[in-house]
Amino acid sequence: MRTIETIQELKAWVKETKGSGETIGLVPTMGFLHEGHISLVNKAKAENGRVVMSIFVNPAQFGPNEDFDRYPRDLERDQRLAEQAGTDVIFAPSAEEMYPRESQISISAGALADVLCGAKRPGHFDGVLKVVAKLFHLTEADRAYFGQKDAQQLAIIESMVEDYNFPLSIRRGETVREEDGLAKSSRNVYLSEAERREAPLLQQALQLGKQAAIEGRDPVSVVRQYLDGRISGEIDYIELLSYPALAKEIEGEAILAIAVQFEKARLIDNLIFHVKGN
Ligand code: AMP
Repeated sequence: MRTIETIQELKAWVKETKGSGETIGLVPTMGFLHEGHISLVNKAKAENGRVVMSIFVNPAQFGPNEDFDRYPRDLERDQRLAEQAGTDVIFAPSAEEMYPRESQISISAGALADVLCGAKRPGHFDGVLKVVAKLFHLTEADRAYFGQKDAQQLAIIESMVEDYNFPLSIRRGETVREEDGLAKSSRNVYLSEAERREAPLLQQALQLGKQAAIEGRDPVSVVRQYLDGRISGEIDYIELLSYPALAKEIEGEAILAIAVQFEKARLIDNLIFHVKGN
């Protein structure tokens, strides 16, 4: 496995790879890898000749009071895990390499970013699209892999690809969980012991909410009541929306999503399921 830090070197690898007729699968990450990321590599390996994983803590998607500086980083550990999973190339550029100058042009996630995390983190998804659009061009990927754990991100990226004819397909990966149901996340290391014990309740609450939604009851109040007094974190939102349109009107697929701010970690989770139309 090779680790590439410059755009020039990445482009040379892409040219050589495409020249030999291989397809490229891209797994964009912010590193501090866990089994969620690895499951995306596995999927990418099954469907492409070569797999490139980007590891880049993207400053453009963090707000001024967010955790950019203390986001966990460990490139050596990531290199070991990515290599074991069969990754061919890690692309780990510096911020200066990715953003050598202030962009004159911005990409906006539009109304899809008005709900859920987008409503709480202004500019976050514009920053995600900025880096993802660059990665798509730089890697010339045939397929790019994203987890449903970040379901709003996935919906927004799918929308950009469709609206602007990016020549690749977006592939979805299921959320990988700990045995107790907690969604794997690089940020879980920042949970205190007590918070770690509470964290699986998010998934339990969503399961009860899903059942309620299917039975025609209000899932949001079910989730809220279940968590009330049982977690120390503060609920940022609980919402039921259509998926992937993220509209209030639900027919077909729905997403029940939650965000909870614990002391040092903001956790998100969701379930996507079918609700009968009204
Ligand atoms: P991140 O490094 O957190 O930005 O995540 C990189 C990619 O891995 C994104 O597409 C995420 O949706 C995906 N991902 C993160 N956590 C999980 C998980 N528990 N299961 C599946 N995919 C995940």
